[in-house]
Amino acid sequence: MLKVAKFGGTSVGTAESIHKIATIVAADPEIAVVVVSATAGTTNQLQELLHNLKAGSLDKVKTIFTAIKKRHLDLVHNLSLDKERAAAEVQEVISALEHLILSRAGGPTGDYSDSFRDSLLGLGEKLSVLIVAGHLRKQTQKKIHYVRAEEVIITDDCFGCANPLSSLIQENVRTKILPYCMATSGLVITEGYLGATVDGISTTLGRGGSDYTAALLARALDDLAPEQFQLQIQLQIWTDVSGIFTADPRIVPAARPLRQLSRFVAAELAYWGAKVLHPATLLPLLDTNVDIWVKNTFATEEEGTLIQSKNSTESKVEAITLRRAQSLVTLSRVKRHDTYGFLAKIFNLLTSFKISVDHVTTSEISTSFTVYDTSLLDTAVIEKLSELAEVQIENNLCLVSMIGNNLIEIQDLLGPISKTLALIGQRHNHKYVLRSMYLGAGSNNISFLVDEKIAETIILELHRYYLEKC
Ligand code: ADP
Ligand code: ASP
Ligand code: MG
Repeated sequence: MLKVAKFGGTSVGTAESIHKIATIVAADPEIAVVVVSATAGTTNQLQELLHNLKAGSLDKVKTIFTAIKKRHLDLVHNLSLDKERAAAEVQEVISALEHLILSRAGGPTGDYSDSFRDSLLGLGEKLSVLIVAGHLRKQTQKKIHYVRAEEVIITDDCFGCANPLSSLIQENVRTKILPYCMATSGLVITEGYLGATVDGISTTLGRGGSDYTAALLARALDDLAPEQFQLQIQLQIWTDVSGIFTADPRIVPAARPLRQLSRFVAAELAYWGAKVLHPATLLPLLDTNVDIWVKNTFATEEEGTLIQSKNSTESKVEAITLRRAQSLVTLSRVKRHDTYGFLAKIFNLLTSFKISVDHVTTSEISTSFTVYDTSLLDTAVIEKLSELAEVQIENNLCLVSMIGNNLIEIQDLLGPISKTLALIGQRHNHKYVLRSMYLGAGSNNISFLVDEKIAETIILELHRYYLEKC
């Protein structure tokens, strides 16, 4: 067995948690590839730094830069790496960050292209990987080989949510990863979230993208393994909770970990908002036999969740998810709705503005869709949409999804949902609780939009009804 282990932000967040990573890696000779995220909160800080840089708020930029620098130098010190090569390497990345800031410190007139943003946001992983690699070199018997993700994860130039180019990735894994992880006691460590175009320009895979990196590497290894070594590949996602739960345990205290889950249900869960997995994580692995485990770095004795390749046929709700910050765009009094190509016009327009849509409903006279991130709906988009129809935008909505198998076969699935919505609506004096509803094509999800003020209450109630009964 060859295991790819990904450690998330909280797992690399403190000296103690990095110790835990070393314990996990040292105890398992089959872990051959380690993927690390930035330390928890660092990517957010880099995003905030960029925001202030653009606004010309240089005092704030300096404060954030100093905090990032201190946090990582403290980690180097607390892990006694001051005299190791990791100390100098971390210092180099900090200087690169400083250099990037100085190159744009001219205020609002600077060049803030999407590629600049990606090269800045990726620095969190470039810092953490050096620290974890330094610690693993000291604390384990393994031969640690650091490979830059930008040399392996080749993507298109869709900055901010780049799409991987799988054949190039596979070739890079064959030449740059496989020889080292197949060597006796060999271990390759790399950054999650990052990639680069064929021209070597930095890209990122979207927030939370380290899970996706690990899945892409597991996929490439799985494609290569049978050819060369007949190896079973396993992907491990190490995080701060003991697996995938029936709902986000931060919202629903009664949520419980699911022991097993099918690929399709897990993929829907990730797509519809369960932050524990990046939405695209399962996609490279849907047609493989790679075992996927979600486990807790801070409670290694707990079993975690196994995501299996086998599909379940049982009709049941397995989990409830929440996606925040949704905006509902309604196009009504559509000009020439009956003509063919109307929806194509809308989607072509949204594609030209790089806006992705989650949830669409249409009727004879109107079409609605949801967009994550209101800031995408700027004046230019709205002007163009207004050429097609009257445009109405509602913000501050949340998408609640019930995820499971064969949902259409559950008798009276909608009854409890509508009762719950009606009760909560009355309690909160809300006239329109439900804004839009939709049954997924694969019958794995039923999703509906509600006001963000009551979304968590709705999840608590639905969880109680569907997932706490037995
Ligand atoms: P990491 O930094 O390890 O990638 P994330 O913060 O991205 O961790 O994901 C873990 C978090 O996902 C958990 O702390 C939990 O609050 C949240 N989460 C949301 N939905 C679920 C769910 N269904 N099961 C488990 N965790 C969930
Ligand atoms: N550091 C990145 C983020 O915060 C990627 C990740 O954590 O997976 O989004
Ligand atoms: Mg994550």
